Amino acid sequence: MSSTIAAQAVTRPALQRALMLIDGQWVGAADGRFLEVENPASRALIAEVPRGGPEDVERAVRAAARAFESWKLTAVRDRGRMLLRIADALEAKSEALCRMLATETGNAIRTQSRPEVRTTAEVFRYFGGVASELKGETVPLGEHVLSYTRREPIGVVGGIIPWNSPVVLGALKIAMSAAAGNTLVLKAAEDAPLAVLEMARTCQEFLPPGVLNVLTGYGEECGAALARHPLVRKLTFTGSTEVGKSVMRAASERIVPVSLELGGKSPAIVFPDADDERVADGVISGMRFTRQGQSCTAGSRLFLHREIFDSFLHKLTGKLAALRIGDPLDEATDMGAIINRKQFERVCSYIEDGLRQKEARLLMGGLPPREGPLAAGYFVQPTVFAGARNEWRIAREEIFGPVLVAIPWSEEAEAIRMANDSHYGLAAYVWTHDIGKALRAAHAIESGWVQVNQGLGQSPGHSYGGYKQSGIGREFSLEGMLDSFTQRKSVTVNLQF
Ligand code: NAD
Repeated sequence: MSSTIAAQAVTRPALQRALMLIDGQWVGAADGRFLEVENPASRALIAEVPRGGPEDVERAVRAAARAFESWKLTAVRDRGRMLLRIADALEAKSEALCRMLATETGNAIRTQSRPEVRTTAEVFRYFGGVASELKGETVPLGEHVLSYTRREPIGVVGGIIPWNSPVVLGALKIAMSAAAGNTLVLKAAEDAPLAVLEMARTCQEFLPPGVLNVLTGYGEECGAALARHPLVRKLTFTGSTEVGKSVMRAASERIVPVSLELGGKSPAIVFPDADDERVADGVISGMRFTRQGQSCTAGSRLFLHREIFDSFLHKLTGKLAALRIGDPLDEATDMGAIINRKQFERVCSYIEDGLRQKEARLLMGGLPPREGPLAAGYFVQPTVFAGARNEWRIAREEIFGPVLVAIPWSEEAEAIRMANDSHYGLAAYVWTHDIGKALRAAHAIESGWVQVNQGLGQSPGHSYGGYKQSGIGREFSLEGMLDSFTQRKSVTVNLQF
């Protein structure tokens, strides 16, 4: 639960209040409660949003079920056209959205929030474009039989999203559900609901009431009620592996399909021929240092060949030291703040754990400053531990902070074995000029996405999702939408009747 519900000072100015979207109306929680949203860079409270609970889930799911009856009959091209209009409208007023996103998440506006909002528009545009690809097949069963398949929508989708890239992940659930003919009840993360609600305002201008409903509230109260609701026919969850398991249990109770996009502890393997500046930049980008490491895709285990171990780390730490940390709204800032007190303390506890390891060498960063401007917010400097072991807790568990562990290797097989020795399998990065080694490694690594010689983010169109405990199902692509957001029906007609 967020730190934002901590007891407040006795007097403070009234906070801006945002409302939830149910059946085309902007409403508060049925019981009138609110929860507070904090700016993690200043620890100031910035807004209140409704603290939705089971009664609100009930209203939203019923609205979505009513809207489904006509939405499923709307021509796919028309559904697609609405998504394309949403993309244009979002772009036209994106700056306000970027500022709101940077303020509530602590993600720097130049390096994170603007690129996220740009990708959000691309997500709507992509799914608007491919909506017409909901094609079926004909099955050749003989001259006197017509057998064909239809891709039909599933019904009401329950979507639950995290706070780290809330707008693009929300957009993904909205666009995939709507293009496929489903209606959606989306639960925003309690720490970052404002930009998602603002995006929903734009969607609402183009979608019929009830096709998209957005709830705010805590996971245990609002998210769990949504996951359990009997009228929800499909669950799509992005968040931690632990909560993902509980969502999967809820899905198993009613046998509804579930997509899970969960955590990661992704390896970045650098071969000896890749000891150069561009690779150091790519490792920093893959580790998502400028999002404070708060990315499921972060390449947080760096496997460096022994020959280049020290020289590469020298380049890497030189570049990290040049990153500017501070106010997310300042154009000069590269790296902002950790989302909330709980995550901040969690990241610090992992750093303390690393500091206790006798063999670990702290190359930079460490525990955050207690004084000075950075102490005003949840700021953690880029932190690099060298000489780490793959068995250590800091090398096994998802820290979700700017903490990189560097592990040496000598043989290719050893690097692959360590890379795969994880219960996660979401992403991976391989750095070498040798195409044979690169592809051998890419094929041997157990993860849903391997990038060779780049450390970029997902693009609409490529299927994204995890192996092992990083998740089930694929999203972000046409195939992902077809597999996860439609159900296939076969119709067989006897032509001799
Ligand atoms: P989280 O699992 O704590 O919360 C995610 C969402 O689930 C929030 O909206 C929360 O309110 C809700 N929730 C919490 N408890 C719930 C419950 N019992 N029932 C239903 N809903 C509940 O995760 P987080 O801290 O917000 O986000 C960080 C995690 O998300 C990391 O593990 C990260 O790797 C993962 N993530 C994965 C992807 C991906 O695509 N694989 C993308 C982004 C983040």
